[in-house]
Amino acid sequence: MNAADYMILELPSREDNVALARVVVGAFAARLDFTLAEIEEIKVAVSEAVTNAVVHGYRESPGVVRIQAHVDDGRLVVSVSDRGVGIEDIAQAREPAFSTVPERMGMGFAFMESFSDELSVESMPGQGTTVRMTKRPQHRTVG
Ligand code: ATP
Ligand code: MG
Repeated sequence: MNAADYMILELPSREDNVALARVVVGAFAARLDFTLAEIEEIKVAVSEAVTNAVVHGYRESPGVVRIQAHVDDGRLVVSVSDRGVGIEDIAQAREPAFSTVPERMGMGFAFMESFSDELSVESMPGQGTTVRMTKRPQHRTVG
């Protein structure tokens, strides 16, 4: 981790904080050589992770969502953590179209997966969840 290039943001688990998180991480990501389309992908992935923390993690009682980002060897690393209810079956939760809430599409993890280079999910029932995404700018062809 580059100690000179990181951010940590803690927000209460309110849905209107999703917009704040996505803007802050989007601005942080802009210091790397991402295209606008890539920044947009990062914002969507962060929105999905923070929404999950608010809607699922803290469905029983409110809490703190912690968003960390840093630059590591030229790539962006973002993690979103909650200390909420946790996920019983991570592999099942990551499947496209799987949701524990009937009105939801179950596409959050699918978006996070496709908009990042690597996605890891750590979770323990009763302990909380951490989602970690990495993304490297794809070099633009010049000329
Ligand atoms: P959508 O994202 O399309 O609105 P969704 O949130 O249900 O629907 P995903 O984001 O893919 O879909 O998440 C799949 C499931 O994983 C959720 O339905 C929920 O059960 C579980 N989950 C995801 N994130 C968390 C979390 N932070 N804490 C607890 N459970 C979670
Ligand atoms: Mg979701």
